Amino acid sequence: MKAIKFGGTSMSTAASIDQVINIIRSDPERRFVVVSAPGKTDGESKVTDMLISVFNAGQDRINAFSHVTARFDKLRSELGLPDGFFDSDFAEIIERLPDAGYDYIVSRGEYLCAKLLAALLDYEFIDSASLIKFRGGAYDDSYTSSVCKLGLQNKRNAVIPGFYGSDNNGNIVAFSRGGSDVSGAIVARAVGADVYENFTDVDGFMTCDPRIVPHASVIDVLTYKELRELSYMGANVLHPESIFPVRKANIPIHIRNTFNPSATGTMIVPTDDYLAGKYERINKRPITAIAGKKNFYSLYIDKSMMNSEIGFVRRVLSCFERLEIAVEHIPSGIDSMTVVFSAVDRDTANALMASIQADVKPDHMHLSTDISLIAIVGHGMVSRPGTAARAISRLSNAGINLRMIDQGASEINIILGVSDSDFERALVALNGEFEV
Ligand code: ASP
Repeated sequence: MKAIKFGGTSMSTAASIDQVINIIRSDPERRFVVVSAPGKTDGESKVTDMLISVFNAGQDRINAFSHVTARFDKLRSELGLPDGFFDSDFAEIIERLPDAGYDYIVSRGEYLCAKLLAALLDYEFIDSASLIKFRGGAYDDSYTSSVCKLGLQNKRNAVIPGFYGSDNNGNIVAFSRGGSDVSGAIVARAVGADVYENFTDVDGFMTCDPRIVPHASVIDVLTYKELRELSYMGANVLHPESIFPVRKANIPIHIRNTFNPSATGTMIVPTDDYLAGKYERINKRPITAIAGKKNFYSLYIDKSMMNSEIGFVRRVLSCFERLEIAVEHIPSGIDSMTVVFSAVDRDTANALMASIQADVKPDHMHLSTDISLIAIVGHGMVSRPGTAARAISRLSNAGINLRMIDQGASEINIILGVSDSDFERALVALNGEFEV
């Protein structure tokens, strides 16, 4: 049995919703459906963005909401549902609008969209407020896990709104943007799905950014660990938190394209040998994908006899912690260390340097503000000598200065730091080397 989630683009027009219905009906295993709010069209913005404007409209909320009702009413009539279908829902929302909080208002896009699709499919509508639970503003996974299981057991089928749940007082609480992916993963785990199908508007995860490397291709199979590395580097097909519920339950995620349903998509599996034979990689290259991001800083700190000064690294890192700066990588030498972190504003950078100066009194310190990081990711490189050497010599042949290199103990990624101005050229060169 399959749990299936459709993103905003899939739900944006009557034609795309028709396509969604065809996809669901083509496979009786597709019994539990989670939806986003309708996304952008040529003339209209995302319903969630429209609802954010409603929230911000102050005295004018009811007027601002009329654009949302018009959007849903148009979809309803184009899809052949009766006039008045949304009347009671619209009336309830309008009544609550003057005092409603942000989460309630922004969640109404998913709520109305799920009602619409449930009616069209003749599936049961189940409100995620009764399935997904928050406590103290944070998502409560263990409570949700039992409540959601109970709420969906013995159900033949259902359409469930993505993006939100509720707290113990019945208040609606929303996930961060893109959170319907998380809702889909929670539902997939609750119903014990064999696969969590996530339908979006791209063919799958790409081996490299196609805007920079035009012949990049779709990755057929990816492990959860590889996915984490790639998402961290900005490959944003899925909400990063969405993998946790299904990963725990060993349920694979299948990324698919609503607008190209015959494409095979990307299958994300717990480990490389999981379901071997069923979802085996067609492509057995050592490198699965290469991804990168600009806008990192690197702080080089040098002090003679640093290696024998007990607590040196801890004191440096405490300065980062006090300023709430997340540290990404710490390549180090005997008398020097470099700390790589995401770009911060000028005041924070100055405060950081001042506190390190005061706390560890380095001989020399230098902040570089033009660092890009590139991750070469792949389970296939584990215990296989030569991957780093190939990457480095390829960059050097292309005349690109390597400013940092870091390989984690897991051996599934090598991180290379280059100047922002070399970023695109480095991605192309590495892609040429590994032909991902
Ligand atoms: N509609 C919400 C957003 O635009 C949630 C989602 O689509 O996942 O972020």
